[in-house]
Amino acid sequence: MRVDVISIFPDYLAALDLSLVGKARQRGLLDLRVHDLRDWTTDRHRTVDDTPFGGGAGMVMRPDVWGLAIDEVLDAGAVGAHLIVPTPSGEVFTQRHAESLASAEQLVFACGRYEGIDARVAQHYRDAGVTVHELSIGDYVLNGGEVASLVMIEAVARLIPGMVGNPDSLVEESHGAAGLLEYPVYTKPPSWADLEIPEVLLSGHHAKIERWRRDRALERTARLRPDMIAALSVTGLDKHDLAL
Ligand code: SAM
Repeated sequence: MRVDVISIFPDYLAALDLSLVGKARQRGLLDLRVHDLRDWTTDRHRTVDDTPFGGGAGMVMRPDVWGLAIDEVLDAGAVGAHLIVPTPSGEVFTQRHAESLASAEQLVFACGRYEGIDARVAQHYRDAGVTVHELSIGDYVLNGGEVASLVMIEAVARLIPGMVGNPDSLVEESHGAAGLLEYPVYTKPPSWADLEIPEVLLSGHHAKIERWRRDRALERTARLRPDMIAALSVTGLDKHDLAL
C-alpha cells in the first residue's frame, strides 16, 4: 500500500518511522511518503492560507495550493486511490473505516491547519471521481490533521496482511467482528499488589476460559458502551449470552 501525507509540519509525522509502521516501511509492506505542502506554493512567503470569505476569525487553507499538491501526489490511475481529509466536522472514523481502507492501493492524507481547508478541495476531487473521506477521530478539536492522520494510518496499517506478527491477536480485539470490547487481559506474575488473576485462566480448560472471556467482554461492553450492546444482532449471541 502507498500512503502519502501532505502537511505544513512534515516533522510531526516522524513517528511513522517507529514501531510496527516503521518496520513495515523497512520491509516494503508500506510505501509511506510525507510531503511539505509549502513545496507547492508559488510566492516568496510560501503562503498556504488566506482570510475567510464572509468574514470571521482565523485563516483558511487555499484550494489552489492544495490542488497542486494533491494533483501531483494522488495517483489518479490507482484503482482505489482514496483522499482522506481529517476534520472534526467529518464522519467519525471507526474500525470499519480502517478495515475498508486497508485494501486500498493508495491513501492520501491532507492535513489541515487553522480553520481548515477550503471546502472546494474535497468537492473538486469528489467531482473528479476520487473517493474522498472527510473523517473525524472524535468529538474534540485538534490544532491540525497530523495527529488525526497518525491515528488513522496506524489503525489501517496494522490490518495490512503481514503487519502484525501474530494475526490471531487481531481476531478478538475490541471493535472486531464480535462487536464487543475486549475482555481484561493478564500476564505474569499471577499475584501482584495483593491481586490474583482469575483462577479460571490457570485451569487450562479452553472452553471455560473462552466462556469467561466472552462474559467479561459482554459485561465490560454493557457497562462502558451500551450503544455497542444495543447494536449487537441477536444472531451473533448464543444461549449463554442471553442468560446473562
Ligand atoms: N474550524 C474547524 C471546525 O470547527 O470544524 C476546526 C479546524 S482545526 C482547528 C484544524 C485542523 O485540525 C482541521 O482542518 C483538521 O485537519 C484537524 N482536526 C482537528 N480536530 C480534528 C478531529 N477531531 N478529527 C480529525 N481532524 C481534526
